[in-house]
Amino acid sequence: MRRHDIHTHTTYSDGLLSPKDLIKQAKYRNLEILGICDHGFSKKLIDTYQVTANLERYYNYLKEIKRTLKGLELKIGIEIDVSRIYGINPSQLPFEILNRFDYVLFEYVNTEKEYWGEVGNRDISEIIDIRNELEIPVGLAHNDIQQNYNRKELEIATILSQYEIFIEIQESELHPRRGVGRNTREGLDYYLHFTKKLVQELVNKGVTVVCGTDSHTGEFLGKLDNSFHFISENNLQFHKLVK
Ligand SMILES: [Zn+2]
Repeated sequence: MRRHDIHTHTTYSDGLLSPKDLIKQAKYRNLEILGICDHGFSKKLIDTYQVTANLERYYNYLKEIKRTLKGLELKIGIEIDVSRIYGINPSQLPFEILNRFDYVLFEYVNTEKEYWGEVGNRDISEIIDIRNELEIPVGLAHNDIQQNYNRKELEIATILSQYEIFIEIQESELHPRRGVGRNTREGLDYYLHFTKKLVQELVNKGVTVVCGTDSHTGEFLGKLDNSFHFISENNLQFHKLVK
């Protein structure tokens, strides 16, 4: 595994730093891989806080930076909201352009509500239905897997493995107003709720993982030592995206 942070936001969505400034921070923190995955296809954000309407411009801009970048590999991603209330029906996604990207993260799969309110549960079967349309790595962003698939650990591990969907182990940036990580339950990052049973099924089925901070400010960019440790301690496998 190379030191990475694949869940970050820039001024192309609701992040504070421009891509170039975030890249500077990533180099300063000795990351080997930086994944920028600004928001798209979400009604929870106004148009200027997401890349939905300017996917092409976003992609081309990052592609140009990536071409000349030295000492750090840039991965071009997008975080797609598939919640039933705010997100897009996956079957309506523009697959052709998405397939130019390096990866896609889907957020709110099988999530009824988040810490900030109801989002509406969309079943992972709707991702599976379109999985063949995407030729790039596909993952679940900051999913509270233990809660969303409680007592279905074997089922979810089987699905993730069979359809090559990785999971993000997120050690999330502190939320400016809440004082805890953005995506946490009872003050703990979701991965810290994983039971032995869940971890065992993920390992047995060969489900792969990547790490991210959901950086919006750059302050916590790449601060992933705890999750890197969790992964190696539990013999989880990293996805090839970060190898
Ligand atoms: Zn995010």
